Amino acid sequence: MTAPLLDIQNFSVCYGPVEALHQVALTVGEGEIVTVIGPNGAGKSTLLNAVMGLLPSTGGVQLAGNKIARPSVEAMVARGVGLVPEKRELFGEMSVEDNLLLGGFARWRRGQRDQAERMGEVFALFPRLQERRAQLAATLSGGERQMLAIGRALMARPKLLMLDEPSLGLAPLIVREVLHIVASLRELGVSVLLIEQNARAALQVADRGYVLEMGAVALSGEASALLTDRRVIETYLGVG
Ligand code: ATP
Repeated sequence: MTAPLLDIQNFSVCYGPVEALHQVALTVGEGEIVTVIGPNGAGKSTLLNAVMGLLPSTGGVQLAGNKIARPSVEAMVARGVGLVPEKRELFGEMSVEDNLLLGGFARWRRGQRDQAERMGEVFALFPRLQERRAQLAATLSGGERQMLAIGRALMARPKLLMLDEPSLGLAPLIVREVLHIVASLRELGVSVLLIEQNARAALQVADRGYVLEMGAVALSGEASALLTDRRVIETYLGVG
């Protein structure tokens, strides 16, 4: 059996004396869409930021069977991991196209042809970005900004893309559009670790899910099983 793309075990993170994540275990397989749902403050963003090496952690992180002794942003990017942070962090005074080019910076040695190909892929996924390629990022709508943030991360050609609440602040119709595109990343050979407060929408596009509560995994399983789990329905899905 091949090793999962991402395998974290006994993963803990502290903010000073406060433990925000406690012995978390989670895997993402090749071609899988995995979601982590849970209430505010459960530690979802902490999880992504620590896996990316933005926060110190203890425990094991393996990528495709290779142990990462101490995750750092450089090491994770070099090994094909990308993060779309909750705040998007676009360069507002720069055009859509320049934001995308910056996302491909780690691959600049491969030349302009490689960049053009990557950008072509992003535009195929998000035709709206192509229409607005010369527009300043600050003037995009919320949904377009999220598309640009995802597109920028894709310019680095990640094998694993981690998304922190891509639906935050978006209208329901746009949420569906963005998550639909997230699900289609699989066809580009990109696996996804998706953090969402919108549990129903996330479980509908994911293969598997984890419920994080107070820094620990409370429940995990196939997304279809979690969608019909009584506890998940009562706590995270509500009626409807
Ligand atoms: P939300 O959905 O509200 O963003 P979350 O599940 O992503 O929540 P985190 O942001 O990871 O949760 O926060 C987990 C816990 O760690 C919370 O109790 C939070 O207050 C705490 N925390 C987060 N960042 C820091 C920090 N820089 N210093 C101290 N405590 C922090």
